[in-house]
Amino acid sequence: MQTCERFDAALTSSEQTLIIKARKFAAQQLPEATVANSGEHRQLLSRACHEGLAGIEVPVQMGGASASFSTRMRVCEELARHHAGFAFSLVNHHNIVSRVAHSGQPALRDSLVPLMLAGERIGCTAMTEPQSGSDFTAMQTTAVPHDNGWLLNGAKAWITNASLADVFLVYAQTDVTAGAKGVGGFIVFADDPGFKREPAYTVAGTEGMGVGEFCLTDCFIPEERLLYPPGDGFYAAMRGVNQARVHVAAINAAMLDTALSTACGYSESRQAFGKPVMAFQGLSWSLAGVATHLEAMRLLAYAGAQVIDAGQDAQGIAAMAKKYANDHTLQAISTCMQAMGAHGLTPQAGLDRMLIWAKAFCYTDGTPEMMNERIVRQLRKVHQS
Ligand SMILES: Cc1cc2nc3c(=O)[nH]c(=O)nc-3n(C[C@H](O)[C@H](O)[C@H](O)COP(=O)(O)OP(=O)(O)OC[C@H]3O[C@@H](n4cnc5c(N)ncnc54)[C@H](O)[C@@H]3O)c2cc1C
Repeated sequence: MQTCERFDAALTSSEQTLIIKARKFAAQQLPEATVANSGEHRQLLSRACHEGLAGIEVPVQMGGASASFSTRMRVCEELARHHAGFAFSLVNHHNIVSRVAHSGQPALRDSLVPLMLAGERIGCTAMTEPQSGSDFTAMQTTAVPHDNGWLLNGAKAWITNASLADVFLVYAQTDVTAGAKGVGGFIVFADDPGFKREPAYTVAGTEGMGVGEFCLTDCFIPEERLLYPPGDGFYAAMRGVNQARVHVAAINAAMLDTALSTACGYSESRQAFGKPVMAFQGLSWSLAGVATHLEAMRLLAYAGAQVIDAGQDAQGIAAMAKKYANDHTLQAISTCMQAMGAHGLTPQAGLDRMLIWAKAFCYTDGTPEMMNERIVRQLRKVHQS
């Protein structure tokens, strides 16, 4: 039994059904998927939504599955075996559906959740700005109270789904002297006056993610679209980041699993000096190293998901899971390519795009340097006495 099968066996039967659904969806829809433009990307997101893959953690009474975070992570992993960029895009959309569904804004919740579950409205989360990423509280986007609502001004950059989304969770500073305590979270719509979307990025490693940017100029947001009041915004963002880090670790594991199985298959069939190249210890040991990293990466991601489901502090384990994935996936995919000779470079092998996705995932939801910072903070807390 593989690690993922053992993990799934501990989930409920309806959770296992969702994972099987995701596996089938990925096998049927994603290998040939073109998500080259916003129209195709939207269609694919919408099909995944119709399979219930955007409502995993949404309560049943709101049309979701009331399933665990572990299920959401496993669904993401199954999708990423075939298309890591799309898996990341869908999980970013799901994040907003889930946040709105659990929000204290009933009117917003009742109007938006059904549309987002059906894929008729796509969501994204906007923290990063053109001049600041790692240093979240250095944001320059401001929100000023105005006429029973807020006026937002600023710009956000490097936002997954921004090129096609309709619903934006925008973090903005409500008090420039308050730091983290002044950060609020606002729901902005693409058709709000003052919202301006820029064209999608055509940057390496962003295939299927719809990454882009937008700016806000005196953009009025009514009070009922304040998702997180000043004070709650920063902590809500950080909670989301822990989940996202575990997702990224699982996505990396999924890519590596596919790369390893491709490399093993090729190396068994490729002959050199009268033998399959897999029979040469110099080559097969390199793949043994990849298999070991894969297992460790997956176990860290699964441990992170279990800590999140238990409602415990996941900062340390989520940072370790992402750090481990970022530290090893690039080299491990490169090792798989090496085992395939020049064929490893071809688009038919499919490892080239994984390599560049793996690099992009070194930035999403915090860099490995920031993961180290987080882990060291925890170390000092535990060992200071
Ligand atoms: C494909 C992709 C999708 C993304 N999607 C989203 C999204 O949906 N929403 C969103 O808000 N953002 C998103 N981002 C942005 C991402 O979160 C940022 O790129 C990331 O937080 C790093 O910020 P930065 O790129 O501005 O780098 P900077 O913060 O400018 O850092 C530059 C370098 O300095 C290092 N550094 C900074 N501070 C320290 C320190 N204290 N110690 C050591 N080293 C340090 C960093 O690790 C990095 O190597 C996405 C990025 C990519 C590439």
